[in-house]
Amino acid sequence: MIGVTLESVSKRFPGAGGAAAVDNVDISIDAGEFFTLLGPSGCGKTTTLRMIAGFYFPTSGRIRFGSEDVTRKPPNKRDTGMVFQNYALFPHMSVAQNVGYGLKIRKIRGAEARRRIDEALRQVHLDGYGDRRIDQLSGGQQQRVALARALVIRPRTLLLDEPLSNLDAKLREETRAEIRRIQREAGITSIYVTHDQAEAMAMSDRIAVMEGGRVQQIGTPQEIYHRPATTFVARFIGRSNVLSLPVVAADVQSVEVRLPDGATRTVAAPSGHGLTETATALVSIRPEHIGLCGPEDPDALPGRVTDVEFTGITTNLTVDVAGQELTVAAVEVPAEPAVGDRIGLRLPAARMWVVRP
Ligand code: ADP
Ligand code: MG
Repeated sequence: MIGVTLESVSKRFPGAGGAAAVDNVDISIDAGEFFTLLGPSGCGKTTTLRMIAGFYFPTSGRIRFGSEDVTRKPPNKRDTGMVFQNYALFPHMSVAQNVGYGLKIRKIRGAEARRRIDEALRQVHLDGYGDRRIDQLSGGQQQRVALARALVIRPRTLLLDEPLSNLDAKLREETRAEIRRIQREAGITSIYVTHDQAEAMAMSDRIAVMEGGRVQQIGTPQEIYHRPATTFVARFIGRSNVLSLPVVAADVQSVEVRLPDGATRTVAAPSGHGLTETATALVSIRPEHIGLCGPEDPDALPGRVTDVEFTGITTNLTVDVAGQELTVAAVEVPAEPAVGDRIGLRLPAARMWVVRP
């Protein structure tokens, strides 16, 4: 097993007006880790993955597999297994022929090839499917064939670019658990690309959240969820609220902020936050951490309901508080809330956190 390191990696495409598709990215992936690049379309995920695979060379920066510098090595010298969104299987070949394709290129034939193909099909729970035609398989099975084809060459790293995007919601959830099982059993360093935050949270050891070619934050799903570093991460992961609140006092790892009704809260802030009295802090709070009560309740921050959406698990309310909109996701709502109602919100200080712009 090997780790993968990106050091100040940038990629500029010719004719893109000088804008970097990937901008000064530093990532250090541990051996055996399941690491995800997460971000909206166009943020540079695929470009980063293709530089790790060797399909693009960085404009600047270094890429290492373990201690080996692979920055300028062609893809076939890197030992990576790739899985794509569109499977890229050969429709006229059998499952076994598809899986064995990489072996053929590497001149592994005969009994050894058959043994490795059987082993790869067992890994993805498709034993006995070797003779099937690709068009006789479901989308989920086809994606597992693509995975077997990547694993059969025993790559040093497995690279997956939105492999579940073509599957329907239920199959997507089943297949993501399956990919994670296979990755654990194979113990292979894996780099996974997705724009789906729920998928990233459910599958990853760690996540790099990207925007505009840059890494905004790297952390475990829990760290990114509970301690988003920036407004972008807070809003992208779990659709957090970000309030602009005046600072009344500041300490090393906390600031005291004033809510629109005049009440104050002392909330956690990352060290080096740089906020002082008279500054405005950006404070994140998750929709599910805001409590509901009557507008006259002494602890309540009063607001007015501007939207109501029932999802089954939660009722999602949009509430206007002195010109700032907050989203509340409540499992229990006191009375059937309606647009225009006055309502009280409870914002517990322990659930609030200062983010960077
Ligand atoms: P993502 O996978 O996160 O959706 P990409 O890495 O595909 O994003 O793209 C990042 C940016 O680089 C986008 O602005 C995209 O238009 C641009 N880009 C990607 N590939 C090329 C290319 N081959 N030539 C020029 N621009 C590209
Ligand atoms: Mg992409």
